[in-house]
Amino acid sequence: MSPSGQSGRRDPGPAVAGGALTHPERVYWPASGDAGPVTKQDLARYLERVAPRLLPAIAGRPLTLLRAPEGIGGERFVQRHAARGLSPLVGTVRLRGEEKPLIQVDTPEALVALAQSGVLEIHPWGARGARLAQPDRMVLDLDPAEDLSFDSVVAAALALRERVLALGLAPFCKTTGGKGLHLVVPLAPGARWDRLHAVAAAICEDLAREAPQRFTTQSALAGRDGRIFLDFQRNARGASAVAPWSPRARPGAPVAMPLDWAEVTEGLDPRRFTIATAPARLETPDPWAGMEEAARPLPPASKLR
Ligand code: ATP
Ligand code: MN
Repeated sequence: MSPSGQSGRRDPGPAVAGGALTHPERVYWPASGDAGPVTKQDLARYLERVAPRLLPAIAGRPLTLLRAPEGIGGERFVQRHAARGLSPLVGTVRLRGEEKPLIQVDTPEALVALAQSGVLEIHPWGARGARLAQPDRMVLDLDPAEDLSFDSVVAAALALRERVLALGLAPFCKTTGGKGLHLVVPLAPGARWDRLHAVAAAICEDLAREAPQRFTTQSALAGRDGRIFLDFQRNARGASAVAPWSPRARPGAPVAMPLDWAEVTEGLDPRRFTIATAPARLETPDPWAGMEEAARPLPPASKLR
């Protein structure tokens, strides 16, 4: 309010759940191609809107955060522990087997507060904090070589899907906001990391053996020429994968998006999903609804080839 009360009101700051933002106009994602700039305030509003879909994927889990307080062109760092600069609204938890408190976000307020702290990416672990020894998600990460079309990534996801289904498991698919796709497989309580790693490795290595000209399970970039890297190494304690609906610190403010398998077809363009466009999908049913109910135990080793 101006002293006279006449010359208009001072903006009290954006009315978002995470409290007032400082520098709401700070540009985190500069305009790029067709996409306009995305400010800190835009990010806060986005997180507030998508909270009903994003929170279920991260609540109760330790998080690895990518921070870039000056935006995607500035300095960036990965954070797994509480530290200066992180809003006090963001929770931390002390967990058995972890020296320092880990980051956890369970409420819309804490989620929106990430925008104030310059958190541009949210990466949950594959287990809940209460049971870090028991993974409850398998993640298969498809990383295409530079020159590959996205259609070939789609074909790879469908091939992996068949194999996962054949093991009695229920795979879900998401874009990453980047170059590839993730298959996410909910697991019933009681899974162990070593067994999960072995099952994920077997699924990927089996496919790579069958079509070695299309797939590799070797991480070396040099050997990837024209192939898709099937990365099963996400399936380890402390490893993360980007959260569905999380933005990415990449040009155009893309976001990771849960898909219905019917959408995983030729012509799928992951660049369609951005901070600006993604909220429209809140009007349609959540393709990942039912993920918890779909959780199944890992298959016994005898079912693997
Ligand atoms: P893309 O589709 O472009 O590959 P992505 O999210 O799968 O996107 P990757 O580089 O393949 O990116 O990494 C897979 C996952 O591994 C990420 O989602 C992230 O959670 C985790 N990850 C990768 N690099 C790091 C890192 N330096 N620090 C922490 N986590 C990382
Ligand atoms: Mn990847």
